[in-house]
Amino acid sequence: NQEMLLIPGPTPVVDEIYEALAQETYAHTDPRLVKRFKNSLDMLKRLFNTKGEAFIVAGSGTLSMEMAIVNTVAPGEKLLVISHGFFGDRFIPVAQAHGIQVEVLQPEWGQHIEISAVEEKLAQGGYKAVTVTHVDTSTGVISNLEKLVPAVKKHGVLFILDGVCASAAVEEDMSKEYGHPDYTIDLVLTGSQKAIGVPPGLAIVAFGPKALKAREAMDKVAAYYMDILRWLPTMQDPGKYYATHPVNMIYALEKGMEIVMAEGLEARYKRHASLGRAVRAGLAEYGMKALAAEEVAAPTLSCILYPEGVNDAEFRSKLAAKGMVIAGSLAALAGKAFRIGHMGNVTEEMFVKAMELVGETLTEMGFKADTAKAVETFKTVYRLGL
Ligand code: PMP
Repeated sequence: NQEMLLIPGPTPVVDEIYEALAQETYAHTDPRLVKRFKNSLDMLKRLFNTKGEAFIVAGSGTLSMEMAIVNTVAPGEKLLVISHGFFGDRFIPVAQAHGIQVEVLQPEWGQHIEISAVEEKLAQGGYKAVTVTHVDTSTGVISNLEKLVPAVKKHGVLFILDGVCASAAVEEDMSKEYGHPDYTIDLVLTGSQKAIGVPPGLAIVAFGPKALKAREAMDKVAAYYMDILRWLPTMQDPGKYYATHPVNMIYALEKGMEIVMAEGLEARYKRHASLGRAVRAGLAEYGMKALAAEEVAAPTLSCILYPEGVNDAEFRSKLAAKGMVIAGSLAALAGKAFRIGHMGNVTEEMFVKAMELVGETLTEMGFKADTAKAVETFKTVYRLGL
């Protein structure tokens, strides 16, 4: 790779995945593709530990959000959106586009929603589903599933989890019982381009048994490409045509998931947790603080507030010129913070380099920066957690 792509997705793509992508395109119904498609689905089902069905279709994370909603909540029904930022909020227009009644709970950016607020809303009754964004990519806040799943599920409401910025880096176990056999995650939606480490282009959705039942109970949905019941025969036998599979992206996904499985889920989750803590600790040595407090901060990306006087555009363009790409911030944080991704197939070496480049850049911009200390802190915290 020519660059260190440290935005919160897409993430750096390793050579093995590029090689998979570059293989000859088979017919979308070719038995050799069918085998790889099934293998990819099997690995996704293991990733999410679901007793239901997984779907892979060409599209981005937003398509997977809309697929999740369209197939579980009917027009006129009520949805509760629990939002920890910009991407949590995205469920509002998605659901409204389908005539769904939406209620929203959104704490201040960087904070966790109060469980009591969730309880209060759901106690009003009438909700069909709740959406929770596992990691909100705008704030770097990770939702507390240990508390949210039981709070939602005790009301018998569907629990829909947006894993776009978390899947394959943080546990999303759909068979896990959060204190009661009925308290499980019903649906996880995600994309290919973040912690799975594959280029953008695939919408991935896992429907658990209750989410599948919800779709079956709806007579029809106002969608064709997004209707999971139309896709189901193809997911059970990918050789059956419904719409043309993104053949080369399936090769890439299969390779990406093989890399995930070879690392091992526990090891991968641990690595991400350590990396997140270490990146934030290293950057703190430059006076750069994360928006989210450590207890709510995500293993996959961090939203980092600039120290007084650091110009966002200048800082990021200088880093980009050195081969390190990070992202600006969204909405009210634009110009005041940057976002750095630390997920997928990234390495310790990359982040040692990142610490060095940040120090170098701050020095060039006339700020004091102890690069050696930042690198040392990063390495110590990273290795401590492994
Ligand atoms: N949800 C989350 C948590 C995201 O981070 C993103 C993308 N950054 C999306 C949904 C939307 O995905 P996409 O841009 O692939 O449509």
